[in-house]
Amino acid sequence: MIVALHSAPKGFFKAGPPYNTDDLLRFVQKAASLGFKAIQIGPLRNFVSIEGERLRRVLDSLNMEINVHVGGIYDAKKFALTEEGYVAAQKQIHYGITLCKEISSTLVSIHPPFFTARNKVNNELLSKARARFLQLLKAEIDFASHSRIKIALESFCYSPFIFGGLHDFAKFVSEFPSEKLGVLLDVGHVYQAGIDLYEAAHVFKHRLLNIHIHDATLEKDYRKATHLPIGKGTINFPDLIDLLREVGYEGWLTLEIRGSEKEIVESKKFLENVICRTP
Ligand SMILES: [Zn+2]
Repeated sequence: MIVALHSAPKGFFKAGPPYNTDDLLRFVQKAASLGFKAIQIGPLRNFVSIEGERLRRVLDSLNMEINVHVGGIYDAKKFALTEEGYVAAQKQIHYGITLCKEISSTLVSIHPPFFTARNKVNNELLSKARARFLQLLKAEIDFASHSRIKIALESFCYSPFIFGGLHDFAKFVSEFPSEKLGVLLDVGHVYQAGIDLYEAAHVFKHRLLNIHIHDATLEKDYRKATHLPIGKGTINFPDLIDLLREVGYEGWLTLEIRGSEKEIVESKKFLENVICRTP
């Protein structure tokens, strides 16, 4: 297991998104200077016109690995009911796969669609969103597999997302062979939603392609309760690393922390110490 970086340190990007290639390269160089050997870029809606070849050259010069996080479908109702919503999601996933190919990466991850507070959700709407998402994934997984790129679905399996629990999510994912669709387990969100991490790791063990790491508490407001630096929440990370070893996970622990540079470095060191300590 290695520790990778997804989130930039607080205040690193001076202005808000969208960011351009220069901003992205600064982030890559910052990650390298903090000792990271792997980064995940995204969500893609935060970036404009990423120059793939230029990015690849910088990554090569720093000997860094990369993968692409497309991000989410932020309005499941619009996605389910309008052509515009569907096409926008399709374009973004398609772009993620194309970019992944351009930068010689092999993994693209996607949030499942979720309903916003404005959406009134009923069963018909829910099943429509799921059917559309299944249709979209089928096409994009086909496209990705031509370039030997795998897709991972992030493990949001609770309201307001389109899946009603761990097993419902697992059932949806099982529509695809495990070599084509994997899972990105987001430890902090799953924990905050009250889902047992032991059960989650075991349910997903044959499909685990990446892990988002942030500390979390069980407080109801997910904005306050998640994306915390390690040690600021209540997740037992030594137990988590043991659990990941138990299920045979050898991939990245990708930090997705809302924290300062110092907190990111400390979280990285903490995890690396735990990884070294346990046999
Ligand atoms: Zn995440």
